[in-house]
Formats: sequence, structure tokens, C-alpha cells
Amino acid sequence: PYYMANGLVDAILNQPVPTGGAAPIEALLEKRTTPAWPITFVPSLCPQCGWDMQGQSDALTLSCENCDTLWRAKGGHLAQLPCAHAADEKEIGMYMPFWRIRADVDGIALKSHADLIRTANLPRVVQPGLEQQTFYFWCPAFKLNPQRFLTCASHVTGSQPRDPLTPGPPRGRRQAVNMPLSEAVESLKLIIALFAKPRERIDEILETVTIRPRKFLLVYLPFQEGHHEFIHRKMNLAIYKNLLVHAKNL
Ligand SMILES: [Zn+2]
Repeated sequence: PYYMANGLVDAILNQPVPTGGAAPIEALLEKRTTPAWPITFVPSLCPQCGWDMQGQSDALTLSCENCDTLWRAKGGHLAQLPCAHAADEKEIGMYMPFWRIRADVDGIALKSHADLIRTANLPRVVQPGLEQQTFYFWCPAFKLNPQRFLTCASHVTGSQPRDPLTPGPPRGRRQAVNMPLSEAVESLKLIIALFAKPRERIDEILETVTIRPRKFLLVYLPFQEGHHEFIHRKMNLAIYKNLLVHAKNL
């Protein structure tokens, strides 16, 4: 064992390690804090165009900057991940990834945006077009602690973002995708429970509602960068940077 005190110190002898400086042990420490995800990627070539792909150490995806595609491990090989992004003319601080999920919901009416407004008793007028707008769940595709994850998911789901989408990942800074779709899907019932009014209905909902996810799309939404947070003004949503850092070790 070693520890750092103006250099590397042998914890058993309690003496400074004479040579080498702090660099090697720092490298080791960094390695040790890398979260142990079930899937680890090695640098790989794009299955579509053969270009070198990129991915952050804790990411579940690899991206090809040559043909603008995103890939994930699936059954022992790389499969293309359907994704899109909402473009923005303003300078983007960070594109944050979300799983946009369409699901069949039984036990409560949640087919359209209008259904959501009624179920959640949102202070909005049900305009005619909203009956035809498909309802989507929106879950962060990045790690947050469970409570923040749920509040963020219900906030974005409540907003039902409707910005026009461009296929493919955005050019620019992107938050790593490190929340698996399978875990996001497990939270869908809890998201409904957070919405439902009156609150007494929560138990009933958890017991009777069934949800079958049908279709998903990874959508990058543009956030502006503040000192301590990433901000989506239209949705009035702030995601604090320190929560993203801490969540890496969840
Ligand atoms: Zn490619």
C-alpha cells in the first residue's frame, strides 16, 4: 500500500518512495476508480466504414466520426444504435443523451401527449394536435443517482420535447452514454407514479399498470454550459456537473 504526501509514500515503511515520483501510482489510482461496467470496449473499427471508433472509458457506445454512426455491443458483436439529435443554432455546451421510449401502457391512458396532461393534471390546455402526438418516455442515458435519475426522467417526460430531430449523433461535445437502456426501462412505472395525480393513486398504479416497451431512440438534446451545471432553458432543466461525476462511481 502507498499513499500520497508530497510524493509517493510507502504506507508500511512510512517512508517516501525514493524514485519514480507520483506519476505511476496516479495512473494506477485512476485505473482503480474506473467503474466496472459489464461490457468493456477495446478500440475498434467501424463495421460500416472501417474508421477508428471512439468511446469514453465508461461509455456503453462507440462512435464513428467518419460516417456519423453510434454502435453498441449486442450478442457479442457491434450493432448500430439508432440515434438522433435536436439541432440548435446557439453554441452548445454539451449534448446530453436520453432514451426516448415508446411503450404500450395498460391500466392508465398514456397514448398521447394529451393523455399525459390529463393523467398528470398538468397546468396546460389540451390543444387539438396533442391528441395525435405520441407519448414518449424520456430517460437519461447517463448515470445519475436513482433519485435524480427519476426526477430528471419525469421532468423531461413531462416536457415531451418536440424539437425537430436530425438522424445520427451530433457533432460536438457529448455526454457519455453509460446508463443501459435495460435499466432505464425498469424505471418507467416509477415515472408514471411520479406523475399521477391525485397522489393516492400511486399504489393503485404500481399494482395495476403494465408497460411493454416497443421502440426506442437515443436522442441527444442540446444543453448550454454554466459554471456548475448544464442547462436546457426551454425545459427549465439544470443538470449539475458534480452529480455526473459522482454518478460515474454508482
Ligand atoms: Zn464509420
